[in-house]
Amino acid sequence: MQGKRLIPYARQSIDDRDVEELVKVIRSDFITQGPKINEFEESLATYCGAEYAVTFNSGTSALHAAYHALGIGDGDEVITTPNTFVATSNAALYLGAKPVFTDLEMNTGNMDLSKVEMNITSKTKLIVPVHYGGYPLDLVTLHKIAQKYEVPLIEDAAHALGAKYRGERIGNCRFSAMTVFSFHPVKHITTGEGGAVLTNDPEYYENLLMFRTHGITKKNFVNHPHGDWYYEMQFLGYNYRMTDIQAVLGVTQLKKLDGFVKRRREIAALYDEAFRDNSYIQTVKEKKDSFSSYHLYPILLKNPYHTQKKEIFDNLRKEGLGVQIHYIPVYLQPYYQRLGYKNGSCPVAEDFYQREISIPLYPAMTNDDVDYVIKTIFEVFESIGVV
Ligand SMILES: *Cc1c(COP(=O)(O)O)cnc(C)c1O
Repeated sequence: MQGKRLIPYARQSIDDRDVEELVKVIRSDFITQGPKINEFEESLATYCGAEYAVTFNSGTSALHAAYHALGIGDGDEVITTPNTFVATSNAALYLGAKPVFTDLEMNTGNMDLSKVEMNITSKTKLIVPVHYGGYPLDLVTLHKIAQKYEVPLIEDAAHALGAKYRGERIGNCRFSAMTVFSFHPVKHITTGEGGAVLTNDPEYYENLLMFRTHGITKKNFVNHPHGDWYYEMQFLGYNYRMTDIQAVLGVTQLKKLDGFVKRRREIAALYDEAFRDNSYIQTVKEKKDSFSSYHLYPILLKNPYHTQKKEIFDNLRKEGLGVQIHYIPVYLQPYYQRLGYKNGSCPVAEDFYQREISIPLYPAMTNDDVDYVIKTIFEVFESIGVV
């Protein structure tokens, strides 16, 4: 019987309140470019403690817009991590820039800040850290490095909505030019697809607004307006707009975010307790300055189990755990290899990849689900036998 249940690694939580509000919007006059966009943006900016939020139709388009707002272009270098979804570095490629991958620190999966400086050149125009799994990296240290070379930071915080660094929410942009979130269903809150950029800078804000709608504006005209209908396209943008159907979910979901994070942290604490001091796996330990929102719960296989990852993964799946791997180092993707990126360039990231498995973690998990995950993991390790 138990073998039949499937516990995914992540799952959205949608309730009647979300559905009721969604139905109201679908029946209303505005299903896109309406009032829910502003409402979501204002509540998100307020929640995070930033001046402005601009929504997009995905986290990927939000990254693209943020890099564009900084003027990233041909030949520029963008320092980022290989332990991320391809979107983080793809957004640099969209603009003709070159991603430069910096290796990881093994115990968190975040960028190794001692290795950033050696990657900085005269072409470096941007550094994009990812708060891997929802665990905020040391922004003060990274900010110091960035300031020394006068290079701006953009936080890819797709994993870190609801997380805190030194007691303040990720997204307040205290240490970065902009912060990017994703609202894909595996993330902390969902709008189906969706994303947002937060910033405190009015110029970036205007640029982001225009970028998501073809570079069009209805103010600060270059030419003399022809009449009330007049608008101007001042640079090449895209249609990257979120709809009101999505934004209303953002509004209702955001109200539940703190509850979601609280439940994620309870589950993580149960896992921490169960996996303390065992011979199979190690886990990420939270440190003083970083309050994780636990997008992921990564387990790392200890020696020699890392050589049996495929078997362990397959057995966990067979027992109904929808485990996932985060991530295949981006530069190992065939497209990146064709661009000339080489295996072995970030050895810690490759080692991390060999050891990492993300186990189920989402707010709707019951304590029974959690017990089942823990029990199954130990059973799988006991059954495989060391080679
Ligand atoms: C999910 C994710 C993205 C992309 O977001 P989408 O909304 O799926 O486009 C970017 N970076 C990271 C680290 C992510 O996890």
